[in-house]
Amino acid sequence: MKALLNIDYTYDFVADDGKLTCGKPGQDLEDEIIQLTKQFIENDDYVVFAIDVHDERDPYHPETRLFPPHNIRGTKGRDLYGRLQEVYEQNKDRDNVYFMDKTRYSAFAGTDLDMKLKARGITEVHLVGVCTDICILHTAVDAYNKGYTIVVHEKAVASFNQAGHEWALGHFTDTLGAKKGE
Ligand code: ZN
Repeated sequence: MKALLNIDYTYDFVADDGKLTCGKPGQDLEDEIIQLTKQFIENDDYVVFAIDVHDERDPYHPETRLFPPHNIRGTKGRDLYGRLQEVYEQNKDRDNVYFMDKTRYSAFAGTDLDMKLKARGITEVHLVGVCTDICILHTAVDAYNKGYTIVVHEKAVASFNQAGHEWALGHFTDTLGAKKGE
């Protein structure tokens, strides 16, 4: 069994005026992410939207010192970018679609994701979204340590840091044994 982990493809991380945006490289992923999301939903595979959430100026959160405020609870910055929001809205009541808040880079950190995947017999996780060298990377490292097979869809991940993006793509295959998505 497999799952698509749709990571942080939100307004703040992708739109031109998003608070911590990847800009065009992020926007260019829209069609590929939508196509994969629909394909997984229609095949009855599990689709997880693992979406960053923060409280503004949270003095206890390590990212407060590192990044401008982003994906603040209750703001449109947390909406999925472009037509992906529509695809989610149309399918959110299905048993195989799960929208999940996360507060750290990895989708596994402090969430019930591992239990959700194990309960469904899922052994293979497919990663799409942003940023390749931050949230995708940390999720991939955790997936590796938990024994999942990893597939990274290179045409469906991006970063605001092109050098970081390219380094992470190599790390996925050469160090985490990830397969490249079709
Ligand atoms: Zn964040």
